This record gives sequence, structure tokens and C-alpha cells, in this order.
Amino acid sequence: MTPEGKRACVIGSGFGGLALAIRLQTAGVQTTVVEARDRPGGQAYHWRKNGFTFDAGPTAITDPAGLRELWLLTGHDMAADIELMPVAPSCRLMWPDGTMFDHSNDPRALQKEIARIEAADIAGYDALLSHATAACEEGYRRFATTPFLDAVSMVEAAPALARNQAWRSVYAVVSKHIRHEKLRQAFSFHTLAIGGNPLTTSAIYALIHALGQESGVWWPRGGTNRLVAALVRHFERLGGTVRLGDPVVKVHTLGTLVTEVETRGGWRERFHAVASNADVVHTYRDLLGDSHRGRQMARKLTRKRFSPSAFVVHFGLEGSWPGIPHHTILFGPRYEGLLKDIFEHGVLPQDLAIYLHHPTVTDPSLAPEGKSTFYALVPVAHLGKLAIDWQEVGPVLEQRILAEVSRRLIPDLADRIVTKFRYAPSDFLGDLNAHLGSAFSLEPTLTQSGWFRPHNRDDVIANLYLVGAGAHPGASIPGVAAGAKATAGLMLQDLAG
Ligand SMILES: Cc1cc2nc3c(=O)[nH]c(=O)nc-3n(C[C@H](O)[C@H](O)[C@H](O)COP(=O)(O)OP(=O)(O)OC[C@H]3O[C@@H](n4cnc5c(N)ncnc54)[C@H](O)[C@@H]3O)c2cc1C
Repeated sequence: MTPEGKRACVIGSGFGGLALAIRLQTAGVQTTVVEARDRPGGQAYHWRKNGFTFDAGPTAITDPAGLRELWLLTGHDMAADIELMPVAPSCRLMWPDGTMFDHSNDPRALQKEIARIEAADIAGYDALLSHATAACEEGYRRFATTPFLDAVSMVEAAPALARNQAWRSVYAVVSKHIRHEKLRQAFSFHTLAIGGNPLTTSAIYALIHALGQESGVWWPRGGTNRLVAALVRHFERLGGTVRLGDPVVKVHTLGTLVTEVETRGGWRERFHAVASNADVVHTYRDLLGDSHRGRQMARKLTRKRFSPSAFVVHFGLEGSWPGIPHHTILFGPRYEGLLKDIFEHGVLPQDLAIYLHHPTVTDPSLAPEGKSTFYALVPVAHLGKLAIDWQEVGPVLEQRILAEVSRRLIPDLADRIVTKFRYAPSDFLGDLNAHLGSAFSLEPTLTQSGWFRPHNRDDVIANLYLVGAGAHPGASIPGVAAGAKATAGLMLQDLAG
């Protein structure tokens, strides 16, 4: 039997939802994506203001091959729908004492950067890269697309976890090989991009550095929103349907089967299979709350650790800054202390570490001529740890962030602002139904990864599936695209049965 002629619904149009929908539609499953918001993309939402384009979330595209595969399945060429531009340096790091470090996937350039800070660490870096490459091979290439449905699959992964010293943290493994504290930060901070604390996240996630080195960092011309638009165009070309601006309010079940999906607008349809790309707690608690399984899973999930949130200031400026790279991290005076404040103590720190996004240096089309688009992001504790009124605190934090960017990079920033707005943890909750306003769903700790993470297919409801940051393997565009492959494999197998 083939799955052709079967009907599937994907709730949510994040990268994971769209990647899954393309895979299903490619295999002949008539697929409908239902999205709550007026635009697709989920965390990769966008706004256009005063001629500026502001992309909301993801800014660094790594492993484009994982996305290209979605087109190759039907012999299409992704490049015909979206151009990916290389970004170099891949990221600049700046410390308060003026030290700078440019990440690059050119090994020679990277070696030079290491030598500028601590030549003795070059040999250690080679050993670290070997560790990260092995972790990438097993943790990403082998296991990210494999659904972990039972404890046996975890036992099978155990030797690989042991080989990669998965019980140690990324920071501990980096510190084993690298002596200089700034270089330790330079090679461990990457876990923040998936919501993980470098001090506690399993060393298997050193794979993020290796993946960046292998694939480089890319930018879709016109912005991340154009990549989302390209995925939607490709899905619709294959015959898929996208419904926007109509949140799902209920997933109906009968016994241990999902039967129908119902939206706020009153649309209600029957499907052979349903996959949720929406937040995992929202899915079980709100959409499946009438079922025993929904309530049981919601209880279980709300006891887990969730990743931090983020506070983002978007701003458009008069002028251009060819000397400010596409990606910059402005480290603050503390690393370990700041991470503890965010991940453990749940306080708003006095010092800031800022990620500055400057897409117009790569792609001037995101702003009117002679102007520049930026966003400045600080990781902050999620709403469960940091219960503050963001309406009140937001404007103050925005001022602190802009003042710091001004002090360190753009002295007359305040005079150059054409437009600005902010995005707070409460917006992640309100706009995306993200539990506790978390920006990356469940924290990627070892005990919340693999089999311990929500499964790509529900254990009880036989035709209910998950895809996206909250499910295996976890957050990031490569992560959710790999997860979509795992989920699609299960769905196509089940639908063919
Ligand atoms: C600020 C920020 C920066 C990031 N930077 C990077 C980066 O540079 N590189 C990278 O690879 N990753 C990055 N990430 C992570 C990456 O963006 C995410 O992990 C990924 O986009 C999540 O995709 P997803 O498939 O889980 O879906 P999401 O993006 O979470 O989308 C879920 C969708 O479900 C919809 N939905 C929710 N409830 C309902 C409902 N009831 N009915 C219908 N629809 C519903 C939502 O509206 C949303 O569209 C970043 C994340 C953030 C927040």
C-alpha cells in the first residue's frame, strides 16, 4: 500500500511544520497546514515598517543541504526559489576589554584568530574540532532523523553518547582542550542558539560548532521571511494547502485516534493523520485537553525544564555600517554568572550579553537606500522563572540595550533611529502559544533529549505526531528540519499500512 490519497493536517507553519508538509505532499498525501497567525514561518515571522524588513527570529542558516533536500525530493532546485548568500565572518565576538574574535569556517582564518588570543590553544582546538565533528556525525547525521520511540533506541544510542562524553557539558569539554577563558566562551556559547546553557548542556551539542564549520553560515536574499515564502511556494506547487489566520482550537479524538481538527473560525475537517508543529504544552493541554492523554501529557510536560526566552529590540537606522558584520556578540563582563542568572536564578542581570543582527551589511534590500536594519537580542529567563511585567520593564531594557550598542559600536545611534519596536517573552507566549514564553521549547539537557524528549509519534494516540522544537531532536532550523524527516518517515509508514 502507498499513502497516496490519504489526508493529513499539520498544525503550525514553522520550519518544522513546513518541512513535514512538503515531505508528506511529495509522497502523495493530501496535506493541509493550518496556521494561527496571518503569516507563515512561526518564529521566522516578519514585519515591514517604514520600508525596513525585520525578520523576527532565526538569522543564521546552517546546513542548507537539509533544506535543499525538500526540493530535491521532487527533482526541483531550491536555488530557483531562494538564493542563499554566504556570510563571513560567520560571527564576530567582542568583549568589554576590546578583544575581538571572528568565527570563520575557513580553517586558516580561524587558526589566525585563535593565535591572536592564545597561540597555545591551536592544538587544543584541533582536538576539540575532532570531538565536535564526531558528535555531529552521530548526534546529528545519524540520530537527529531517527525517531526515538522506545527505551531500546536510547540503549542503542548509549555507546555513541559514551564515545562523545555526553554526560559532560559543552563548556567542560571545551575547557579540557582550550585554556584561554575567552576562547572557552568562543567555542561554547553556540548552545544558546538552541536554548541550552553551555555550562550544563551535554557535550554532544558541541556538534553545533562542527555543523557550522562544515556547512558555513548562509543568509536568504531578502531575509529569512523569503526562505519561508519559498517553502510555502514549493509546498503549494506540489498541491498542498495552507490556511492562515485561523488557530486550531481543538483536535478531536475517538478512543486512541485523532479524528478531526477544528479551528476558531469554525472550519472542521477529518484527517487520517494529524501532526502538531505548535508548542508541545499548548498541543496537549489546549488542543487535546478533552482527552485523558492530552491532560496526562500536559501534566508531564509542564514539570520539565524549559529553555529561556529572549528580549529583542528591532531598529532601523539612518546610515550604513560596512564595518559591523552580519552577526556580532557583545559579551558582557561575566559569562558563568550571567548564564546562571538566566538559566537558574531567573533574575534580570545588570550586565548584558547582546547578539546584534545586522542583515543589511550582507543584503541591503532589507532597508531603504542608505539605511540599515538591526536587531539586538538578549537572552532572558522564561516567564516561569522571571515573573515581571514586560509592559513596564520592556521600555527600560530596550533603552539599556540600545545604550550599550551605542557605547560599544554606534555612538550616535539615538539620533539615527528611524523606527524601532521590541519583542518580549510575553509576545512569544501571546503570539506563538510558547509555554512560559520560552524561545526554544524544552531545554536540550541530556535527560530531555532523544527518547526523553516528546516523541515524533504520540505513544498512545496512534495517528497523532509532533514536529518542531519541542519534539525530537529539538530547536534550530537544522534541528526541526531533521525532526520533520523523522516524523514524515513514521507518518508515511503508518499511512501506507
Ligand atoms: C530569536 C530567535 C533566534 C533564533 N536564531 C536561530 C538561528 O539563527 N538559526 C537557527 O537555526 N535557529 C534559530 N532559532 C531557533 C529556530 O528559529 C526555531 O527552533 C525554529 O524556527 C522553530 O521551528 P518550529 O518548527 O518548532 O516552529 P515554530 O517556529 O515554533 O512555529 C510554530 C507555529 O505553530 C503555530 N501555532 C501555534 N499554536 C497554533 C494553533 N493553535 N493553531 C495553529 N497554529 C498554531 C504558531 O503560530 C507558529 O507559526 C532562533 C529562535 C529565536 C526565537
